[in-house]
Amino acid sequence: MLNKLIFVINCGSSSLKFSVINPLKKKKILFGLAENFNNNNSYIKWTFNQNIKKKKFNTKINHKIILNYLINNILKKNLLYNNIIAIGHRIVHGGEKFINSVIITDKVIKEIKKASIFAPLHNPIQLISIKEIIKILPNLKKKQVAVFDTAFHQTIPEKSYLYALPIKFYEKYKIRRYGAHGTSHKYVTQVASKILNIPLNILNCISCHLGNGSSITAIHNGKSVDTSMGLTPLEGLVMGTRCGNIDPAIIFYMYNELNIKIDKIYKILTEESGMLGLTNITSDFRYIEDNYFKNFKIKRAVNVFVHNLAKYIASYSILMKNKINAIIFTGGIGENSVLIREKTVKQLKILNIFIDQKLNHEIKFGKTGFINIKNSIPILVIPTNEELMIAQDTFKIIMNQ
Ligand code: AMP
Repeated sequence: MLNKLIFVINCGSSSLKFSVINPLKKKKILFGLAENFNNNNSYIKWTFNQNIKKKKFNTKINHKIILNYLINNILKKNLLYNNIIAIGHRIVHGGEKFINSVIITDKVIKEIKKASIFAPLHNPIQLISIKEIIKILPNLKKKQVAVFDTAFHQTIPEKSYLYALPIKFYEKYKIRRYGAHGTSHKYVTQVASKILNIPLNILNCISCHLGNGSSITAIHNGKSVDTSMGLTPLEGLVMGTRCGNIDPAIIFYMYNELNIKIDKIYKILTEESGMLGLTNITSDFRYIEDNYFKNFKIKRAVNVFVHNLAKYIASYSILMKNKINAIIFTGGIGENSVLIREKTVKQLKILNIFIDQKLNHEIKFGKTGFINIKNSIPILVIPTNEELMIAQDTFKIIMNQ
């Protein structure tokens, strides 16, 4: 039965991911991606009933054009349109206002606009898509839900979210740790609770979301109590092209002594650093894994990545008095990279965390499972599913409306 479907929209700065989900059956009915909006290689690709289809536009497009195409040419033609009862929007930054997903009202729109200063590439685009949906599907105007990447981390205590800056920068300008990937960390925590058969409200775990962007979260009694991303997703772990933690004085050295312009420094830190910067070759962990033993630059970069990750896991473990029920690996790297999981866990013996080589090799490519030896703290690999989490939150809220 198709009825009661949720349309999930995830807008990036020049891309749009979408899916139509049956939240009760936890099933993706249709899903796809539109990319390369700003050049002539733009296209939309989607999968429905196991058939993959693609339309090239060969011109510059934008989120409005894609949403119209998607609804009028894909959803209507595949007869899904009438079964959509609500729309879930992934919103990158909710500032301090949103601790949960909410129905989108004029007031919510105003708050998302306010938080745009912290996510200038995402929030404004996501607002455009909310407004366009109201035009295309006016009957669903009051059935749009905002699901914030920051919401799960709003339980972080003051001691974790305050930076040691003059306090006015927090009080007046709201500069603090907000975190990101909240929807993913929340999803894998809920799945872990079911797998371990431990109620969410007493579950302690460390969730490692390792993808192009990476973040790690300490979860105590089912709630985020610390996370590695900060005011923006630049802080924390070494990432694909982002630097993660660095001494802030490096920026002034680059600016004052190396005469690098401020915009260029930002580009270096966000697009040219991380694994790409260290290897000077790639940020793709498939290549990195294949060439680990062949190329010393790759080996060195992996060592830096693993060292940082292990340091975070160890400190979060201590934060929770080493009473953790599981370490969770998710995201493209966490779900698939046998090498990164093995090298990271090898650093954690003192915390009673040990990997099982055979299981580590087996659990990848979308599989869920344990990769620890018998007497170790459980290590779980759980493929993330942010779209399902957004669909389930949206469904719950709409049903209680
Ligand atoms: P995400 O941002 O979650 O899509 O993750 C993207 C990252 O996952 C990229 O660095 C990919 O190279 C990495 N990745 C995807 N599949 C694999 C794989 N089979 N082995 C190692 N890394 C992978």
